[in-house]
Amino acid sequence: MECVFCAIIGGQLPGEFLYQDDAVVAIKDVNPQAPVHLLIIPRRHIPTLLDLDPADEGLMGHICNVATQVATEQQISAEGFRLVVNCGLGAGQSVFHIHFHLMGGRTLHWPPG
Ligand code: AMP
Ligand code: ZN
Repeated sequence: MECVFCAIIGGQLPGEFLYQDDAVVAIKDVNPQAPVHLLIIPRRHIPTLLDLDPADEGLMGHICNVATQVATEQQISAEGFRLVVNCGLGAGQSVFHIHFHLMGGRTLHWPPG
């Protein structure tokens, strides 16, 4: 399978799952940039934000709810956390299956660069 996240979701590649439901999963990022660095990923293969349909509004809202739930479980919600989507090569997107980076556990500076 060509997409690394489809392979993880499909069980062909290993992943450390912290949350799963019918629509999304949350896994640990393999190269964490913060003490907590998770990826919230829709099960459906959607390459970038630009590929979303109006019908995906519910899915995107659901991802935000899952992110806040997992952030609370990971005990990073009180101090502050970041939810980030990189869209396109120029923004640093390297895996072309939409994913939301959930990061926290340290002071996060802005702008990220
Ligand atoms: P982006 O650069 O926004 O596309 O983010 C891709 C993220 O996926 C990076 O933070 C990578 O460290 C992470 N990543 C790549 N391969 C894997 C993998 N097999 N398991 C978990 N995270 C991965
Ligand atoms: Zn995929």
